[in-house]
Amino acid sequence: MEYAPATPERTERLDAARTSGDLRAHNRVQLLRAIHDSGARRTRSQLTHDLDLARGTASVLIGSLAADALIAESPVEDARPVRGRPTLVPGPHPDGPQVLAADLREDAWELAVCSIGGGYEILGGQAHDGTPEEALRPLAAAARAATSGRVVGIGLAVAGPVRDGVVDISHLGWQDVRVPEFFDVSVPLIVGNDARLAGVAEARRGRLQGVAVGLHLHIDFDPGGTLLLDGRPMAGSSGTAGEFGHMPLASRSLDEPCLCGAWGCWSLRVGANALLRHAGLAAGGGRGRALAERILASDGEAVAENARALGEGVAALVNALDPGVVSLSGMGVELLARARDEIEAAYLDGLMAFRRSAPPPIAPSSLGRAGPLIGAMESAFDAFLTPSGLQAWRELRGFGLV
Ligand SMILES: [Zn+2]
Repeated sequence: MEYAPATPERTERLDAARTSGDLRAHNRVQLLRAIHDSGARRTRSQLTHDLDLARGTASVLIGSLAADALIAESPVEDARPVRGRPTLVPGPHPDGPQVLAADLREDAWELAVCSIGGGYEILGGQAHDGTPEEALRPLAAAARAATSGRVVGIGLAVAGPVRDGVVDISHLGWQDVRVPEFFDVSVPLIVGNDARLAGVAEARRGRLQGVAVGLHLHIDFDPGGTLLLDGRPMAGSSGTAGEFGHMPLASRSLDEPCLCGAWGCWSLRVGANALLRHAGLAAGGGRGRALAERILASDGEAVAENARALGEGVAALVNALDPGVVSLSGMGVELLARARDEIEAAYLDGLMAFRRSAPPPIAPSSLGRAGPLIGAMESAFDAFLTPSGLQAWRELRGFGLV
């Protein structure tokens, strides 16, 4: 299933809703989304102001969301009561909707259950041998076991390009793996690329919040990323945009092609595979994470080379795409902490002169390694937070028609 975030076009269509029933359904979605996006930390009166609602309308909408077990209000603990009444904050209902989110990396997976507001609890995880069977069967079984009546969708981040649920992970040898066929579940399954989902997470809850044009790079075994325009990731015509690791930013003198099939890929110089390769070790197969982390901690020439190549590539991307901020997640956070000077020197050298007086900052992710998991959660909630999603929840819960 295609990952389809709320878009301005969709919002405009909804604004044009003609019947009062449509308008009410639209307002319910907008309010529930605002509660979710704010991390369930805005008070009832703040939300009323944010959404420019009349107080009476907000009160009716909150009442209807609460009656549907979509939210519950609780008093703010440290706030002063207004005229003797506690300040109320709408948040997740104890029996409310949940989504499952999973991060499928090259060597392990992790599964979480998530609530409105973005809170999540890790249910479990497992290492795997890199084959689709060993990676996906146990994950799908764990997801099936966790799919209670409250679960309205599953978001899955995978470490490779995704076309309509079909996944390639070149350095694992995965080609045309049909991920949904492994999942026998009755709720929507949304499969997305991990680096892009990490960028979505940064835009919603991290370093790129409020940034109009943001570039996010997620560095794990290979680098990947996404360009975010007003928080929306650029998907490309086949859904596979953002494979920045496979731009020919590495020297042609490297005498082997990238595992993706192209020559001179940036992936040959940046990321865990590049650290292993620089140390003369075999790279690929999703093996060697712990070893790559030890090489990174050693601060040796392999780290300096990774840092220079990162700075060069970021400069090329900034010259081409003109973002306001560049955020880094995954291994990029530690690389930035250890070798910021090397990264920034190569970055400035590679920038066009007119950009050098005010280069976009390179900033570490504020979500750390949880980015792909949080982005997977957001993709599943995006699919649910629609008028039809909320209506289906009502019917499922036996509340009947609005
Ligand atoms: Zn490549």
